[in-house]
Amino acid sequence: MLVSFPGQNNMLVLRSFMILFFSCITIKINLCFPSIPSSLKTLSIDGHFDFEQVEHAAKDFGNRYSYLPLAVLYPKSVSDVATTVNHVWQIGGGSELKVAARGHGHSLQGQAQAHRGVVINMESLQGLKMQVHTGNFPYVDVSGGELWINILRQSLKHGLAPKSWTDYLHLTVGGTLSNAGISGQAFRHGPQISNVYQLEVVTGKGEVVNCSEKQNSDLFYSVLGGLGQFGIITRARISLEPAPEMVKWIRMVYTDFATFTRDQEKLISGQSTFDYVEGFVIINRTGLLNNWRSSFNPQDPLQASQFKSDGRRLFCLELAKYFNHEDMVLVNQEIKTSLSQLNHIPSTLFISEVPYMEFLDRVHISEIKLRSRGLWEVPHPWLNLFIPKSKIHSFAQEVFGNILTDTSSGPILIYPVNKSKWDNRTSVVIPEEDVFYLVAFLSSAVPSSTGNDGLEQILIRNKRILDYCEIAGLGVKQYLPHFSTQGEWKSHFGPHWEAFIRRKSTYDPSAILAPGQRIFQKPIAYS
Ligand code: FAD
Repeated sequence: MLVSFPGQNNMLVLRSFMILFFSCITIKINLCFPSIPSSLKTLSIDGHFDFEQVEHAAKDFGNRYSYLPLAVLYPKSVSDVATTVNHVWQIGGGSELKVAARGHGHSLQGQAQAHRGVVINMESLQGLKMQVHTGNFPYVDVSGGELWINILRQSLKHGLAPKSWTDYLHLTVGGTLSNAGISGQAFRHGPQISNVYQLEVVTGKGEVVNCSEKQNSDLFYSVLGGLGQFGIITRARISLEPAPEMVKWIRMVYTDFATFTRDQEKLISGQSTFDYVEGFVIINRTGLLNNWRSSFNPQDPLQASQFKSDGRRLFCLELAKYFNHEDMVLVNQEIKTSLSQLNHIPSTLFISEVPYMEFLDRVHISEIKLRSRGLWEVPHPWLNLFIPKSKIHSFAQEVFGNILTDTSSGPILIYPVNKSKWDNRTSVVIPEEDVFYLVAFLSSAVPSSTGNDGLEQILIRNKRILDYCEIAGLGVKQYLPHFSTQGEWKSHFGPHWEAFIRRKSTYDPSAILAPGQRIFQKPIAYS
């Protein structure tokens, strides 16, 4: 059936006729479908295909979606990726053979999976040597399948490190650059996609293209935040800065949301003393401050021991200041001055001092603990939202004050970022305001629970939050998005929809020639 969408322009209508034309070919090729794996076997590559052991490629961190591929490619070279994608392109969009790059498989809703398609295991490409370049504008050249933790280890050998991070480092370069890559440093440096000089990309036709702000810039910006839709990142040049030795890691609590956000917004504006600004919400928890890792020392132990969190809604500001040992005295003074301008509850000021590496790799420590208790590989119905600054109070009132009764199913992060640090030429979709918040509901579902901590209840709660945002017209955008229908994707992209379609048809044309709706269903991948 020919699918048409309201508001289609002439180009799309024309393309729809092409879909009709090509759908005839689809039928023909579909009859030959079983021969596709054997045609892959004829490809001359350095790595190999696995057609048998493919179950792991049908899993991800979200633990909720599972699409079995026909084959997994373990590429040893960029040309293996190009040969395979080119082969799929030659077969044509009508074959319905999808290709998905898989980084570390930490997607939440099958984004790196390919139902009856080919998954490319990008971590096999790690053999490409990581190269750190020192000098005035230091950078590192890495494989698209490289883990950020390895980049940190390698660049630290040169006293350098990337500027912008995610909270968890056991993710690949290709995986985070396909989304945005955000953490507490983003207010100053922008997301990871704002800290890339150059990419090498295999397009949907299987062409290997170098791109940057100056060279093939449309492809460069398409791929950044492009949800893996326009090409496979096989190499990236990432900007570095001098790495500090140590980090002052600070937490303090607020009971008043307006005071909390006012301080957060002050901290991300202008010349902030701090290098990292995040925060989280606590609802209905007891013994909170005692549960923080032992390295968090209360500034006033007596007063801290008298603080009672029981049952209240609390907002915890989390800050970090980087330093080297020789600057210790100066840094302590700077921190003291900055903290004196904040309005937290004085008795809740906790300071920890940890090596830079330990600070950045902090979530891995939790991972090890959760794994040992069998709590890592559970369903993760996460919901990540970008909320315009002007709407954050309405959002908080309804969601933290009404919809949520506790935060026992996982952390809820909340922190503002500056839009000026996001390049509007990339594919990522963000709100229109100069400052917007990331609010991340990082839930873990207790298997087979029917209570508040069970999958079903968490999904109902997520839906209530999304429905509220929609009805209240908050202009919220989803981060790490997942939608089921073309209409939802169109609404997500909003005014950027036409650009998305144009880029898709330029860099992955076989997909656009396939029946319209398919490319936007999960997993969104090459056709
Ligand atoms: P995958 O899940 O393997 O892939 C993700 C997407 O990218 C898929 O669409 C895939 O096809 C595509 N892709 C993968 N590799 C390539 C490539 N080389 N070229 C083109 N496309 C590719 N995100 C943040 O921004 N900030 C955080 O602080 C943060 N914390 C997290 C903490 C945890 C514990 C987890 C599990 C996730 C976190 N995330 C965070 C989300 C994370 O950034 C995304 O889920 C990311 O996509 C995972 O990377 P991955 O290597 O596992 O990618």
